[in-house]
This record gives sequence, structure tokens and C-alpha cells, in this order.
Amino acid sequence: MTKDSEVKLPLIDRSISPSDLSRLQSIFGFTFTAEMTDICNLRCVYCAQTFSPHRAHEKIPYGMIEPEIFKKAIDEISDPGSVFYKSHEVLLHWLGESILHPKFKEMVEYAGEKLRKSGHMLYVDTNGVHLTPEITKVILKNPFKRVHFSIDAATKQTYDNIRRGGDFERVIKNIRYFFERRRQLNQTTPQAMLQFIPVPLIPSVGHKHGIRYADISNAHEIKPFVEYWDNFLKTVNTLDAQYDDAIFIKALNTLADIQGEVNEFYKKSVRDSGIKLIKKKYVTIMAPLRNDWGIPLEKMWEELQ
Ligand code: SF4
Repeated sequence: MTKDSEVKLPLIDRSISPSDLSRLQSIFGFTFTAEMTDICNLRCVYCAQTFSPHRAHEKIPYGMIEPEIFKKAIDEISDPGSVFYKSHEVLLHWLGESILHPKFKEMVEYAGEKLRKSGHMLYVDTNGVHLTPEITKVILKNPFKRVHFSIDAATKQTYDNIRRGGDFERVIKNIRYFFERRRQLNQTTPQAMLQFIPVPLIPSVGHKHGIRYADISNAHEIKPFVEYWDNFLKTVNTLDAQYDDAIFIKALNTLADIQGEVNEFYKKSVRDSGIKLIKKKYVTIMAPLRNDWGIPLEKMWEELQ
């Protein structure tokens, strides 16, 4: 075990001067990413976890963060004298499934205690396969602002084709439990995002980039996905409060020169599904073209019409 005093923080880029960081932060705000692990139990067809050719070439190993390093990062974020104190939230993942970390609970409890005092919030994405009641309890008890549930399908057949290695029924059961438990605790937070990414069939372009997309597209399931979760949230989000939860149809980000084609596919899929931007008391149904901060949802929606 590494001694506390010897712990270095390789994850923090100190090449940015505090004044530059402050200026950027005042314009954009920023999120501090403390990725717990880059290991994932799934191999979704569109994810870098699946094709990642650069990773294989560079022989980059996968791993889990040492809890001591994670705690040091949290100490720094929660220190008012640190430039990282200005982060508006702490993201616990990037390319992996953080809840797989065997010390997830210990690290979140530590972060929760520190960040509750400093006013920072946590944020995590999960594929939901290992979202046990114990993990749900940890998330609901600590200062999480948002949790993204990545689902991408309304049926097991489509789910198996897109989110390879997952378990559709188990994921749905786990996510439903999350909402039910939150209701029992009389909480409306953390905000939950139920995410669906329409996956295009563009084999010729995809192969050129070493990317293999789905054998079948999931776009035809946008509408049933929205209807299923809309109905469920209506029955479970029954507190006398406004909810920030969202059913989120998100565009695939490829970081490749096929992005234009992917965006067109996204726009067509959303249009064809017939779903509309709707704000209800218990959920918002949203399909913004981009995730740009500061652009009103209605404005993004106009781009889709
Ligand atoms: S669950 Fe997320 S991180 Fe894992 S393979 Fe799928 S998209 Fe990638």
C-alpha cells in the first residue's frame, strides 16, 4: 500500500496556469474528472472500449485507481485554496464503469463527506448491470447531482445487439429499483437521465475507421423506449415536487470524420420517431442535437425540426 505522504497526483494537469484556468472556468465552468476505473464489463458497439485501436497499439493497460490517489484528488478539490475548488462538479467516470471498483463505496463515502461541506456535487454514468441495491444506497446517500443510465434499447434483442455483454432484464430491474428506492426515501435527487443513443448502420464508412457498428440499428426503438420510461416515471415520481429527471435521446459522438453522417442519422431518427420535447412535472423528454451548455433546450430542439 502506498504511504499517504508519497501519493502523487498524476491525473491533475498542472501545466495550465491558475490564471488561465480561472479565465477558462469563468467562461465555461469546468468539471473535475476523477475516473475510478477505465475497465468496463460491456463492449457496446459504438464505444472506444470495443474498437480502441490506438489503445491496442500503445499497449495501455487498464486499471483501477488507488483509493489514496482518489482521496488526495478529493482533498484538493474541496480545499478553498486550490484552483480545482472552482469545479462545479466531480465526474467519477470517463471510459469505464466506476461502480465495478471494489472500493467504490469507500471512495464515494469519503468524497461525499468532503464535498458536502465544500458544496461540490458528484456525477456518474453507469450501464446499470451491477447497480445493486447496495450501490444504489451509496448513490442516494451521497451528494450526487446526476446519474446517467445508458440503456439504448426497448427490447432485449436490440439491447443484446448494441450493448454487448449486458443483461437487459437485470438492467431494467436495477434502474427501476433505483427510482423506487429514491421515492421511498422521499428524494427527488439525484437527477436521473435515461439515455438512448441511436446507433447508425454505416458499415462502409465504419470499416474505414476500424469501427463496427450494429448489425441492426436501434433507432426504431426510440419511441417505445420513451413510452416505457415515461409511463414508469409517471407511476414512481409521485412526490409533490418538480423532478429534473430526463429521458435523453443523445447523438453519438464518434470523434471521427463520419460525425456529419452520424448527426444526419440522429436527426432523421428523432424526426421519424415522432417524439416531441416535453416538460412534465415528473420527467423531461429531450433530444438535443448537441450537449452544448448554455443553449436552451428549445433552441436545440429547433435544429431538429
Ligand atoms: S457501458 Fe459505456 S463504457 Fe462500457 S462499453 Fe458501453 S458505452 Fe463503453
